[in-house]
Amino acid sequence: MHELSIARQLLTVADREAKLHGWSVVESVTVSVGLLSDIEPTALDFAFGGARSLYTGFEQCNLAIMHQPATAHCPSCVWHGELTELRFDCPRCGKRGLRVDASSEVTITAMTVGD
Ligand SMILES: [Zn+2]
Repeated sequence: MHELSIARQLLTVADREAKLHGWSVVESVTVSVGLLSDIEPTALDFAFGGARSLYTGFEQCNLAIMHQPATAHCPSCVWHGELTELRFDCPRCGKRGLRVDASSEVTITAMTVGD
């Protein structure tokens, strides 16, 4: 399962970061998910909930998933703007062939720590 390996990678990175800073309890991890990452947020949340107990200090950690918007431009009408969901037809002229500059990355953007 794709999301499980991503959840483990995120926890490994967050765990390394927490140890580096001497944080004993991590309350939440916020991740930014690119539009092309092909991640199912509920599946990722579920996988994270299952894997977090393997990491000391993460037993009660919550995962917050933010969607990273993508920019796009239309070669037909020169529209340029931001997309919050993936599409390939232009929002202005309706023609297909929208050039989408979306990320496929999942990155940790914030961590909340306890004491
Ligand atoms: Zn257009």
